[in-house]
Amino acid sequence: MLVVMQHDASGDEIQRVVDTIEELGYEARPMPGKQRTAVGLVGNDGRVDASRLAALPGVKEIIHVTQPYKQVSREWKEESTVVRLPGGLRIGGNEVVVIAGPCSVESEEQIIQTARSVRASGAAMLRGGAFKPRSSPYSFQGLGEEGLKLLAKAREETGLLVVTEAMDAEGVDLVTQYADVIQIGARNMQNSSLLKRAGRAGKPVLLKRGIAATITELLLSAEYLLAEGNHDVILCERGVRGFDNATRNVFDLAAITVVHGLSHLPIIADPSHATGWRDKVTPMARAAVAAGADGVMVEVHQQPDRALSDGAQSLYPEQFAELMREIRVIAEAIGRVVAEPLPAVSA
Ligand code: PEP
Ligand code: MN
Repeated sequence: MLVVMQHDASGDEIQRVVDTIEELGYEARPMPGKQRTAVGLVGNDGRVDASRLAALPGVKEIIHVTQPYKQVSREWKEESTVVRLPGGLRIGGNEVVVIAGPCSVESEEQIIQTARSVRASGAAMLRGGAFKPRSSPYSFQGLGEEGLKLLAKAREETGLLVVTEAMDAEGVDLVTQYADVIQIGARNMQNSSLLKRAGRAGKPVLLKRGIAATITELLLSAEYLLAEGNHDVILCERGVRGFDNATRNVFDLAAITVVHGLSHLPIIADPSHATGWRDKVTPMARAAVAAGADGVMVEVHQQPDRALSDGAQSLYPEQFAELMREIRVIAEAIGRVVAEPLPAVSA
């Protein structure tokens, strides 16, 4: 349950709500926000009699949130969140944002060439891991800060905004210096210290669904970010582990519409990690846009057979160009448009 305070509620009035919640035997979580301050009530197992709270001075309204997550729910905020990125790019509005690039940043030549090529095809953002969460410790772990610098260089040359992963709480500051959006990967979706740190980073966060996470767990992880004050959160469906190894993961297409129903946050799809095979990526990217995804994130490599990670699921540049043409048609059919890339800074 949320006790929403009036705009001009005083500190004493907020404290009185907190005290009353505690007297009732529950936990109070004050949630100061730019628009309004609310006090969350947790620890209840069922509906709470709110009459005492509703009568307190400074209280505007009581919202009964039926979900375990609060601030990310549509009950808390009805209108869809639009995450605003530098240069006016928006995720969660009418535009469908396409993010493309290699799994990992491998070299200057590779990332600059790929950035130029995906931009020419119409991608608005560049992806590429500098810190890679690999299943094996013997696999390529990424270029680290050098990779972040190369991503920043690619942004300067092409105007593409950059999303890249922070793997641990200590790494968030470094990634924040270079990236436009901080990615939290599937393996880290429930790393609460990382979530808390990213929630204070002051930059938008792309939160990927965990390898075997339910939608409720995904939304609870997003709640950590909002609870720390970061409301610029983009969710990402990237498939969950199933019993069939025909594809790398089971792409949960319905999650897109389920999340749109339960939450005001935007959700994009990653058909690359969801399927693991390049010939499956294009059909699932098309399907994701048709299903209402606010964007897609696709791995593209100039020479997939030489990729240091995830070559089998990386599209050739020409395949990506064709996918962009198809996505534009699908977006138009459902009354949306594909976001245009921003002009290059140096242009
Ligand atoms: C990635 O997008 O670079 C990645 C590692 O994906 P995931 O966290 O979804 O496995
Ligand atoms: Mn990858």
